[in-house]
Amino acid sequence: MTRKRIALLGPPGAGKGTQAKLIADKTGLCHLSTGDILRDEVAHGTEIGRAAKLHMDRGDLVPDKLIIDMIHERIAKTDGFILDGFPRTVAQAEALLKITPLDLMINITLSRVEVIKRLSSRRVCRECGKIYNLLFNPPKSKTRCDLCGGELFQRDDDRPEVVDNRYDVYMQATAPLIDFYCERGLLCEVDGAQPTAVVLERIMDLLAG
Ligand code: AMP
Repeated sequence: MTRKRIALLGPPGAGKGTQAKLIADKTGLCHLSTGDILRDEVAHGTEIGRAAKLHMDRGDLVPDKLIIDMIHERIAKTDGFILDGFPRTVAQAEALLKITPLDLMINITLSRVEVIKRLSSRRVCRECGKIYNLLFNPPKSKTRCDLCGGELFQRDDDRPEVVDNRYDVYMQATAPLIDFYCERGLLCEVDGAQPTAVVLERIMDLLAG
């Protein structure tokens, strides 16, 4: 595949992380997830991690400047990528425009009811990062990863008291990007309520088109 520059948009829980990993495996594009990078910074107790944690624990967005400074270099040195969780505000989208153009923004849609159901049953492997859902894509054991046997855990920001706020933040700060990319002729939409494999197939068709 030519070195495409793609980004995934959509509410938390729509499947951006799951799809980005699958697309990266299939295409060799570099998967850049601001959420994963931030969680790594938090786990290592870095300055960025300490600054971000407060916002993340509340389900709020981390300030634009911190995010843009953090991701800028990684994007600039990669010629084909799939962005997952960035940009998330109009200011971030404008900053991205100055770094590199996008070929496609894929909006994975999901209703509020589905978002809340999915996030509260999401579990992640501490070792390899594989994402499970106890309702829709359950692991064989509730506590261990099928692939590597790593411990499965619930992200702090997937706790029910935080999930509502994350959806509101998405609607207020991130949903305006739908118009932003539509106006630039870059937006495609995929129904995120479909099974993972169907969503992936649709995205692969869009990338091939
Ligand atoms: P995610 O894994 O993409 O759901 O991100 C988890 C959390 O990290 C979000 O709820 C935000 O607090 C923070 N975060 C990730 N990406 C961004 C971004 N592009 N802008 C601001 N905050 C972000």
